[in-house]
Amino acid sequence: MTATRKIGEEVMKMGTTVIIGGGTMGMRTAVTLRSLLKDERIVIIEKTPIASWAGCPIPYYISGRLPESSVILDSPDDIRKRGIELYENHEVVDIDPDGMRVKVKGGKIDGWMDYDNLVLGLGAIPRRIPILDEIEAENIFHITHAPHGLKLRKFIDEEKPNKVLIVGGGYVGLEMVENLSELGMKISLVEKMEDILPRLPKRLRKKVYDKLKEREVEYHLSTVVEDVEIVGRLVKRVKLSNSRTLDVDLIVVSVGVLPNTKMLKNTKAEFGPLDSLKTNEYMEVMGLEKVYAGGDMVCVKNLITGKEAYYPLGDVANKHGIVTARRIAGKSDLVFKGAIGTSLTGIFGLQIGFTGLTKEEAEKEGFSVETMNLKAFTGHPKMGETTSSDLEVIYDFRDGRILGAFMVGEKCVAQFIDLISTFITMRMKAQEIFDVDYAYAPIGSTVWNPGLLFARKFYSGK
Ligand SMILES: Cc1cc2nc3c(=O)[nH]c(=O)nc-3n(C[C@H](O)[C@H](O)[C@H](O)COP(=O)(O)OP(=O)(O)OC[C@H]3O[C@@H](n4cnc5c(N)ncnc54)[C@H](O)[C@@H]3O)c2cc1C
Repeated sequence: MTATRKIGEEVMKMGTTVIIGGGTMGMRTAVTLRSLLKDERIVIIEKTPIASWAGCPIPYYISGRLPESSVILDSPDDIRKRGIELYENHEVVDIDPDGMRVKVKGGKIDGWMDYDNLVLGLGAIPRRIPILDEIEAENIFHITHAPHGLKLRKFIDEEKPNKVLIVGGGYVGLEMVENLSELGMKISLVEKMEDILPRLPKRLRKKVYDKLKEREVEYHLSTVVEDVEIVGRLVKRVKLSNSRTLDVDLIVVSVGVLPNTKMLKNTKAEFGPLDSLKTNEYMEVMGLEKVYAGGDMVCVKNLITGKEAYYPLGDVANKHGIVTARRIAGKSDLVFKGAIGTSLTGIFGLQIGFTGLTKEEAEKEGFSVETMNLKAFTGHPKMGETTSSDLEVIYDFRDGRILGAFMVGEKCVAQFIDLISTFITMRMKAQEIFDVDYAYAPIGSTVWNPGLLFARKFYSGK
């Protein structure tokens, strides 16, 4: 039943918003929309038993450093108490945007369901790789959803694996290296590319390799798994392309994700890189009416280059949910303009931060690129417990506009990288970065905040 109610100057139709996927995008949209529209019927269809979950804590939950409640944020009953109709263990198997309906398969709903607004929060699917994705074995795990984390933790508790192979040297792979190593397991890491964390400048990447060596993690670069030996339902040995053979009790595959958009392929939706969905700044899917999408399904505008980019990250998905809900509620004051890939990871006490373009990417875009190496301190270097981080800044030498930054340190890397992300987002040049009024007292900082240090060095000798 559709009712009407006045919001500001607009007359809103109250109806049914169907949300596919109870992950970050879906849940953020649902709770924001509920706070804005009391009478809207909000329905979440989630294919697993778990809605309202977080991927980022999973590696730390597996080692026991974070509790289960950091991965599973709300129970189905908690969600229903918020006035959201949740159908867990229900899967959307077809979407008919012309008929404004979705086909649901599950115990309580089995058939077509109409919507007034449709929100797509289906997330991503793991990239598949030869051999390991072609066989069935109980000791191969992908970690892209809460149930995978719970299952791996159970496997570890019951089977007590010791020799582990991690496939993929991206940020999730490295976080798994750290957390399984913390449990006392012997870790081997295999990476197909020449390097782990390939966007990190060489000088900073060396610090990561040093840590791996220090913690006796064996790593194999430019290497893939070529063959496996299966005993019963378990892979017991793998042969690598560098001719090495490893005994294994557990394999974790983490080679990245792709947008989960296959179901939209036969619709009029428009697609960007890697078959991600294109949306406008209100998260409305280009080519479709009353359909919104966000999170790992969509591409976004890179705020430096203006080109489409794919950033499957939790904070981006949350922003998408907020903008989507406000748009459905008839509010057009907040838009999602884009992102620059700001992110943080860590291994064995090293925090690693990324924002913006690499030197090579900036050069390709036609900027006049130089790099500057800086140290950022969390306190006065001569007082108490201070830490220093290594920072590489990519900038345009004509005006000191910062285009990218990469950082490795022990503390506060997120805060420093966020500061630089702000400079980049606001397109600030050396003069404006100099203009910022930074806090200084020996108890918490040095007088040379990395922003001020950058501006000082930029102007020195000019
Ligand atoms: C191990 C791990 C670590 C991470 N660490 C970080 C980090 O440190 N920082 C960061 O920013 N990001 C991190 N991420 C990424 C972040 O979790 C994702 O970017 C974010 O969750 C994407 O949100 P989403 O809503 O698009 O997808 P998801 O949160 O994945 O939700 C998608 C939901 O849709 C459901 N679904 C799919 N298909 C259907 C269907 N047909 N019918 C019904 N339901 C369906 C799925 O079951 C799932 O619940 C990490 C992810 C993982 C897995």
